[in-house]
Amino acid sequence: MSSTQSGTVLVTGASGFIAGHCIEELLRHGYAVRGTVRDVAHTEKVAHLTALATEYGGRLNFVAARLDSDEGWAEAVADCAFVLHVASPNPPAVPLDEDEIIRPAVDGTLRVLRAAAESGTVSRVVLTSSSLAVNAGRPAPTADSYTEDDWSLIENCDPYAKSKTLAERAAWKFIHDQPEGRRLDLAVVIPTLVLGPLQRPEVTTSNEVVQRLLDRSMPAVPNLGFSLVDVRDIALAHRLAMESPKAAGNRYVCGGPYTWMWDMARVLAAEFGPEGFRVPTRRLPYWAMWLAARFDPALRLALGYVGRPERFSSQKAIDELGWSTRPIEEILRDTGQSLIDHGFVHPRRAGRADL
Ligand code: NAP
Repeated sequence: MSSTQSGTVLVTGASGFIAGHCIEELLRHGYAVRGTVRDVAHTEKVAHLTALATEYGGRLNFVAARLDSDEGWAEAVADCAFVLHVASPNPPAVPLDEDEIIRPAVDGTLRVLRAAAESGTVSRVVLTSSSLAVNAGRPAPTADSYTEDDWSLIENCDPYAKSKTLAERAAWKFIHDQPEGRRLDLAVVIPTLVLGPLQRPEVTTSNEVVQRLLDRSMPAVPNLGFSLVDVRDIALAHRLAMESPKAAGNRYVCGGPYTWMWDMARVLAAEFGPEGFRVPTRRLPYWAMWLAARFDPALRLALGYVGRPERFSSQKAIDELGWSTRPIEEILRDTGQSLIDHGFVHPRRAGRADL
């Protein structure tokens, strides 16, 4: 652990997967942390973080604030030096009314920025955006590797990609519209698909892809892939974007190499096959995926990306922040092990036929 850092950091959505790891990263580096939760009466979702604070001898407390209400934000940012605005609706399925996720994402981001700007103490907000604010809504990949110069095409985006793109756009507009002599900086971290160990027993939307391979609820492997990144490296990116003077006014794509799902399956099979996990290796033809997508919202969202590698360059984060990401094999191994340790997937014993 490093020495105690000055200044408290507010992390929004403390109960979330990425926010939890950001809080751990900050505590480990000596920061005092305040986390927002929707309701302080329900502390069971953050109990693991209180335990971590004790372990690291750090200071951590929680305040209530919701993205869809002004209440609580002034108190949340009071005396903070930095804000990591991580919270955003990330539902497993598309809601019927897209505003259910777009409004909290956009209005919530503006609430956080307004409170930070008015606090007089916060010097920088680090916003968690998404690669879906970069590459979504395109009929075909338009770049060898997407970079920070690229933006999603709103008119073709699904509601989640739209929520992330509009929220980030709104954040930059807020920063640029600040009066002369402004104090508040913005830096944006743009994760690709985030996998990694769970701090508490809840499978996140992004880790479901590993869960579905390990438990064979996906009995064959679709012709899909992702740029994978580890949640611990995304937490590091947030800290670096917060600390680095260069990061002000910058977006940083943070993702690993593009990995086809059958390569993910191959790594998982090699790692967990000997423990009795029958990871599928057969390929799912497009027609079968199209059919399955009629009943499976996650597959429905993925249909537009079939057979189409979407690569991202993290060179700017590497060069300017000194960021790095761990190997895919390690990410998949640790994610799989965490799902096993939390009891979300179980080995299939001999006698069950492979599909
Ligand atoms: P997560 O585990 O679902 O966390 C989302 C957090 O946001 C939760 O703490 C949730 O609180 C909070 N939240 C949602 N709606 C809220 C509202 N109306 N008011 C207050 N809090 C609200 O998701 P995650 O994977 O950690 O994602 C965190 C951030 O990373 C999001 O901005 C997401 O868009 C971005 N991101 C994620 C990935 C990925 O692969 N996971 C990739 C790129 C970007 P409750 O616990 O109370 O629901």
